[in-house]
Amino acid sequence: MALTWNRSVEWDSEDWRKQAACRDTDPDLFFPVGTTGLAIDQIDEAKRVCRDCDAVSLCLEFALATNQEAGVWGGTSEEERGRLRKTWLAHRRRAS
Ligand code: SF4
Repeated sequence: MALTWNRSVEWDSEDWRKQAACRDTDPDLFFPVGTTGLAIDQIDEAKRVCRDCDAVSLCLEFALATNQEAGVWGGTSEEERGRLRKTWLAHRRRAS
């Protein structure tokens, strides 16, 4: 997934949520308990939904900017987002 770091839309307007492919899915899928066993299958399934989501970039940026630690956001797991956020924060510091 390519992050451009350039916002063309205000992600905090929440309009992106109207495009969310997960709007009608079971929220539990996106917030599995733990990172092993059944949770691995849930995370994979949630990521499959994200792959077809028009709001994936804005969702991920929102999750990084608001430090969403739990669940699948923008096609990323908690662990993946933790690593991405360090890069995202470094970029923000350089840009300001
Ligand atoms: S990227 Fe995934 S979590 Fe984010 S709105 Fe789309 S389907 Fe939902």
